[in-house]
Amino acid sequence: MFIKEIEFVNFKSFGKRVKIPFYEGFTAISGPNGSGKSNIIDGILFALGLSGSKTMRAEKLTDLIFNDAKSKQPEFAQVTITFDNSDRKAPVEADEFEISRKIKQTKSGYYSYFYFNGKAVSLTEVHELLGKAGVTPEGYNVVMQGDISQITAKMSPTERRKIIDEIAGVSEFDEKKQKSLAELDIVKEQIEKIDIIVEEVK
Ligand code: ATP
Repeated sequence: MFIKEIEFVNFKSFGKRVKIPFYEGFTAISGPNGSGKSNIIDGILFALGLSGSKTMRAEKLTDLIFNDAKSKQPEFAQVTITFDNSDRKAPVEADEFEISRKIKQTKSGYYSYFYFNGKAVSLTEVHELLGKAGVTPEGYNVVMQGDISQITAKMSPTERRKIIDEIAGVSEFDEKKQKSLAELDIVKEQIEKIDIIVEEVK
């Protein structure tokens, strides 16, 4: 599974509608300072609900709506991510699917909506779908500036090991193993109780 295209409408520095194609494997984005490279990453975090506004370098969510101080700020911003799913990593029976998020500013506050293939869904549903394809808010699918020094310099070897396990998908099995061992303990206890009763009956 990989990102095939991102469409921005009024998101951060992307006024109007901008479509950016991505390719299987490695896509590098280059451009002058302040041209909006990091805003593309912020768009991914926003559309997939992977982080709060601070990580997207905005004080509040509505700061993510395009604002050039020259014209009236648009009422909404929307980011749509098209995934190539030909490997069926996500549990969707189609070669591609779309996840989109719209934030709308009104006089009484703001509203945030998520869509799966154009149909309104909850953030939990987006997380459930992406989680099955190994994309999670806690995961390292998006590595931010500063994450590398955090991982290499500040973390203990055990914490680093945890990250590697998460990326490799081992931690999922660790959790299942812990759950099974806990269930086994309960069963052992029940067997002991039954053995005592059997002994008493004898
Ligand atoms: P660098 O190479 O320096 O890291 P970059 O290419 O990653 O830069 P970004 O940080 O993505 O650039 O973009 C910063 C630009 O986005 C700034 O010029 C900022 O004014 C603009 N920007 C951020 N939010 C908005 C917004 N809501 N409306 C319009 N422009 C915005």
